Amino acid sequence: MPEGLGFVPAAPIAVAAPAHATAVLRVDLAAVVENWRRLGVAHGGRPVAAVVKADAYGLGAARVAAALHAAGCATFFVATLDEGLALRPLLPGAVIAALNGLLPGAEEDYAAAAIDPVLGSLAEIDAWAASARRAGRSRPALLHVDTGLARLGLPPDELAALAAAPDRLTGITLRYVMSHLASSERADDPANERQRARFATACAILPPAPRSLANSSGIFLGPDYATDLARPGAALYGMNPTPGAPCPMRPALHLAARVLQLRHVAAGEAIGYNATWIAPRPSRIATVGLGYADGWHRAQSNRGAACFDGKVLPLVGRVSMDLTMFDATDVPGLAVGNWLDLIGPGRPLEDVACAAGTSAYEVLTALGARIRRVWHG
Ligand SMILES: *Cc1c(COP(=O)(O)O)cnc(C)c1O
Repeated sequence: MPEGLGFVPAAPIAVAAPAHATAVLRVDLAAVVENWRRLGVAHGGRPVAAVVKADAYGLGAARVAAALHAAGCATFFVATLDEGLALRPLLPGAVIAALNGLLPGAEEDYAAAAIDPVLGSLAEIDAWAASARRAGRSRPALLHVDTGLARLGLPPDELAALAAAPDRLTGITLRYVMSHLASSERADDPANERQRARFATACAILPPAPRSLANSSGIFLGPDYATDLARPGAALYGMNPTPGAPCPMRPALHLAARVLQLRHVAAGEAIGYNATWIAPRPSRIATVGLGYADGWHRAQSNRGAACFDGKVLPLVGRVSMDLTMFDATDVPGLAVGNWLDLIGPGRPLEDVACAAGTSAYEVLTALGARIRRVWHG
């Protein structure tokens, strides 16, 4: 196991998973909670929310959110109302905010479940304020100001219009004014400072309210980026918020798949669909039960790898829907039923992302429902 990864499996996958499981994602909830605490320290002791959208980046939102709630986390971000509805009964008293905003006509659905919309346009503000007037009581929401991502949030002209007519917010309890950084994982990108300054200006012309700016990497941009609430997702789950520097987070997940079959192939024999890999020598091939239908990206064909007992097994041939093959020729001790590490000790998430030609975020959020989740800690 490489030094420095800090990965100490609390229990072997084989112990934690049922005998019939072919692929397992083991989630260390104690590590997630520890990461949340570390992020609080990095945020200067100020409050830190948990972004648990997309099923907590694939780790299981119900279990992750419940563990963080028990540890004292009071604010949770999801993308959609449906994600919020699933978590509402598990998080009594907590604020749950839906980042994707308010869809026209959905006001009462948000209010009934006490999910706060993150309002990102004048139309959303007006609709939420009108719903509060109809209900005869003020309704909480967050206000999203776009400072350079140009995705969601009030664009500059709508921000100016709102600042000129702040009574449009009457009936809305502003929990936070927030914005989102476009390039926070690049500490030296001048876009960060530009967005920080625009956010400060926006907050100065809006009615006073608590502020929220930094995502995972934003927390590590320094005290200028600290606000009343940070919104990390990735770093909670062990992803490195400071690429290029040592990861300050604890690894929180381990993906492994079992060897279903082992076979010897002669030199010159082809492996997998369309024969994209030809054995250059007499080889021993391990087939595991995980494929692109599980979100194990097909782009890893002939590029990815697995790890067993500290040894690297190159991924050979095409990743198929339910199966992937690895060259186990140099790992004679490997047997049917053994677990290959696909993400974890010896196989960092960043390397998987690189082999798949995508980001670590996409690798995690793509992991499908057939992969058995096992939570501990
Ligand atoms: C997803 C998201 C976050 C969390 O970002 P990470 O990089 O995972 O920490 C924070 N804020 C908003 C608006 C988001 O969409």
